[in-house]
Formats: sequence, C-alpha cells, structure tokens
Amino acid sequence: MLDRLDQLEREAEEAITAASDIEELRALRVRFLGKKGALTALLRGMSQLPPGQRPAVGRKANDLRDRLEELLRQKEAAVREAASGARWEKERIDVTLPGSPVLLGRKHPLTLILDEIKGIFTGLGFQTARGPEIESEYYNFEALNMPSDHPARDMQDSFYVSPQFLLRTHTSPVQVRTMELQAPRLPVRIIAPGKVFRRDDDATHSPMFHQVEGLAVDRGVTFADLKGTLLLFARAMFGERQQIRLRPSFFPFTEPSAEVDISCIMCGGSGCRVCSHGGWLEILGAGMVHPRVLEISGYDPQAVTGFAFGMGVERIAMLKYGIDDMRLLFSNDLRFLRQF
Ligand SMILES: [Zn+2]
Repeated sequence: MLDRLDQLEREAEEAITAASDIEELRALRVRFLGKKGALTALLRGMSQLPPGQRPAVGRKANDLRDRLEELLRQKEAAVREAASGARWEKERIDVTLPGSPVLLGRKHPLTLILDEIKGIFTGLGFQTARGPEIESEYYNFEALNMPSDHPARDMQDSFYVSPQFLLRTHTSPVQVRTMELQAPRLPVRIIAPGKVFRRDDDATHSPMFHQVEGLAVDRGVTFADLKGTLLLFARAMFGERQQIRLRPSFFPFTEPSAEVDISCIMCGGSGCRVCSHGGWLEILGAGMVHPRVLEISGYDPQAVTGFAFGMGVERIAMLKYGIDDMRLLFSNDLRFLRQF
C-alpha cells in the first residue's frame, strides 16, 4: 500500500511538472485528488489492511494530498505568470521608435497666391465680392460696354451654354453686379476673385483660369489713385524694389485704359530671357471705369469716378514661383505640388 502511494506520488509529480496550461492542471487535480480520483480510489482499499498499518498509510496519504495540492498551486501560479509575461511581450510598445509619418495636405500654389492677393487688398480696405461662373450675355458683355459686334463676343472665344448664357470670359461682370446692388452708396471698394473660361489651351493659356478683378468707385477717384494702388500691390507681391509701367491700351469698359508692367523679377530690368530682354513683364490690365458702365450700374458719371483692374492669378503664380508651363498648375502632379 505504501509502495503504491509512492508510485502515485511520482506519477502525479511528473504529470504536474509537464503540464503547460491551467486547463491541464484542473484535469490533473480531478484525476489525482478528485472524488473519483486516484488517491480516493487507493484509500478505499484501506479497509482491507490490518488495523496496525492503517494509521501509517492514512498519514502518508494525507501528506501526499497536501503535497500535491501545494505542487498544483505552485505550478498554476507559474503558468499564469508565464502567460501574462507572453502577453506583456506581445503588447509591449517601444515609445522610443519613430512614429509613422502623417501625410499632410497643403495649399495649392494658386491658392497661396490668391490668399496673398486678398491679404494685400483687404489691407487697403477692399472687400471680397463674387459672381456666377455661368453669366448672361448682358453682364458679360452688354453692361460692360461691349457692343454685339465686339470681337471678344465671337463664339470662337467663349463657351456658350445656351443662346443667352455662357461661361464668363472675365471677372468684370462682378463690377456691374456689385455696383447695381450697392448704388447709390459710396465708396465701392471690392476685389472679385474667381474662375474664368476661354477657348485657349497651350503652355501659357488654359481654357479655365483665375482672375482677380478690382474696383474702386467714389467721389474724386483719379488715375493717380489707380497707379498708387497698383504700385503698392506690385511691391507687396514681388518686393519693395519693384517699379511699374503703364502703357496706353484699350478695353471697352475703361477709359482711359492701360496695360500694366512690373520691372522684370528675374533681371531687375536689365533684360533677360524671361522678359524677352525688355526689362518689363506685363501683369495686368486697368483703367478708369467707363462713364457708360457707371451709368448702367446706377451711378452718376458726373458725380463719381472709379478705377478697375483685372489680373491673371496663374500669370502671377508663374512669375513669382518661376513656373514655365501653366499646365503644371492643373496637372495635380504631387512631385510639383510638394514644392510649395
Ligand atoms: Zn528680365
């Protein structure tokens, strides 16, 4: 009987040592110490022993039960610790590792230029106005003093969406729309940024491009005010050393009209490839608001005067950033866009 207890002890120790998880240990507890377990089964045979041997066997059996209980407890604790250690290892975070980079969007070069233009004119007291991109012939041409035989009204140059409506070919209709809404209150001082559309497509033209229109109407506004405003703009945009030059020109909605040049930003005026060796770069058109346009828009041309200008945003972006193909601005090539 004592030998069988020794044998049971060896067997149990071996099995408990080999066990690797909690479930297995539970099964071993049942197998050796449970009501129908090996030790219980063995003790049932005690009644057949001579009474003198019973106390010794009973003691040894109790010792064995205690010992196995202790072994199971220890092993269970070890298994639990190993499991949590493994989990710890798996979930460990090395806070010294570099993080994965977050890809940030950025402003398109045209948006950067537009923001800069708005900032300059907002500082001069101009407000931002907007108009529709699908415009009526009346606002796009008629109200801007463009008679029906004017070359700019040619179907070749414009995108018509119906006989009377077209994609606006310039932002100048916003001049008339703004004055109509505001008349007769003074002063009118707005810039109107937006998309315009023409049938052009090459390295320096796009069928869709952006303009910023400017308009100032008040009592006593002069050509000198226009020149001063544009000089201030040129210096704020391209640098304090900038000079501007005004050349006589013609637009149906301004009189007199001028093409405005800035001194070449590449060579400073001495002549280079960019300015075709002339020293000047054309950046915008301007003039005094035509009396007829003032009248159509609800202002008395005897009492008030005004100046207007229009600039191409792409042209300014190309000059400022040294871009030689306008199509780059619309190609959405990240290699290009990431440089800004
Ligand atoms: Zn130059």
